Amino acid sequence: MEDSIERPLLGHYNLWVTYPHRPFRKWHKCSSWLLLACLLTSSCASYRSPLPSLDPPSEDEETRISREFRREAKKHFQYVNNPEIERYIVRIGQRILSVMGPQPFDYRFFVVADSQLNAFAVPGGSIFFYTGLIERAKSTSEIAGVMGHEIIHIKGRHMARHSGPDAISLLSLVGMLLLARSGAGAQAAGAVGQAVSATRQIAYSRQLEMEADTLGVRYMASAGYNPAGSLGFLKTLNEERALNPIDLPAYMMTHPVTQERVANVQLVIRSLGELEIKSDGPDELKKMQMILRLERQETDKVIEEYEKIVAQNPENGEALHLLAFAQHYKGQLSQARKNYQKAKTLNPEDPALYRDLGRLYTTSGDFSTARASFDRAVAMDPKEPLNYLYLGELLEKENDLRTAAGAYLNAHRLSPLWDKPPARLALIYAKLDRLGDAYYYRARSSMLQDEDERAISEFEKAIKILGENSPRGQTIKDELKILRSRRR
Ligand SMILES: [Zn+2]
Repeated sequence: MEDSIERPLLGHYNLWVTYPHRPFRKWHKCSSWLLLACLLTSSCASYRSPLPSLDPPSEDEETRISREFRREAKKHFQYVNNPEIERYIVRIGQRILSVMGPQPFDYRFFVVADSQLNAFAVPGGSIFFYTGLIERAKSTSEIAGVMGHEIIHIKGRHMARHSGPDAISLLSLVGMLLLARSGAGAQAAGAVGQAVSATRQIAYSRQLEMEADTLGVRYMASAGYNPAGSLGFLKTLNEERALNPIDLPAYMMTHPVTQERVANVQLVIRSLGELEIKSDGPDELKKMQMILRLERQETDKVIEEYEKIVAQNPENGEALHLLAFAQHYKGQLSQARKNYQKAKTLNPEDPALYRDLGRLYTTSGDFSTARASFDRAVAMDPKEPLNYLYLGELLEKENDLRTAAGAYLNAHRLSPLWDKPPARLALIYAKLDRLGDAYYYRARSSMLQDEDERAISEFEKAIKILGENSPRGQTIKDELKILRSRRR
């Protein structure tokens, strides 16, 4: 029974990805980190310096810091809950990481719905982009420039190396968090709030910023992004300052654009020589910026703008695609279909176009054409989980739940740290009356949302139904062991 569903939906797209498990060492609450927390936090320290000599946090500790931070940040930030935007940022991050060799952390990427121009990284692999940055960037390579830079702060373990009189920022932030975790009541809650708002001030030394620029540019270029994007982003920041000299962008407060930085980035780019820039067709950034505007209810304005662009240049396939996308969003299905079709003749090699077209046909109830479009998207880009997520939606509409489960499983395997596919799987299995599997995937989704207690209770329910000796029983036991060991 189990095996009849637990195989990838499409045999020749058999892309199994192993779920990363890492050994977990017990977090020492009395470590020097907490001592530092006390010294940096006014609630229990009467002096701030000199700082104690401090062992840098271990990788496991940084992983823990990241998780604790994410758990608190969820209460303070509103995340963009859109699969396209989520995948866009993850794709950029993963592509840069893919040229960096094995990593000690599971990197996680989040998009915060906030109009500030900002991005930051938390030790242990969590990277946050604000929508304000995505909207102001001029190309994906600019975003990749920021991504490369932030990944280097994490990979280079800059927090551990950061020291000096201005060591507030990250150290105090983490200290406050941990103190808050072990402390009590209202004081703790206040400290956590401060910690999260202190992310605005994450600033490293000049030397570490230069290192992040230098290595970030090199890695983004190896990943096939145009390194000029890094320079372009510095320009974007400067323009923002000129437009708005009083209210400086948050990113600029922590990353001032100095002559030295610009010269350094220019030098690094020159040292890279001739490069092979990968082009995956149209720059996806425009679509992301459009989605953010659509979600802000600017649909009519967006459509009007794109109609103008298309009127000026009817052969602009990318503009036709985006116009159709906005029209679909507004419910103008027949206009959308017409424009998608035209775009298809102009850009026949763009998998995202077939995916969007598939979604349109799903909406309009033309299921077989929708299926053909998704199959085409999958054939062109078999490693993109979005293709399977949307295919799953279509199959659910057709009431083919078992095949839909296969599609979501593919998405889950391709992107094991994405919480959406397991959440869908949980719903499907509940509908199929397979409650053990439903609890299992709900627990997976909870884990990915850092909801450990919820995950424990769901895993417990799953194992009760499935049995300890079932194929899934051992996995659940292992997960429960990890989850319980990191309980506070
Ligand atoms: Zn930086």
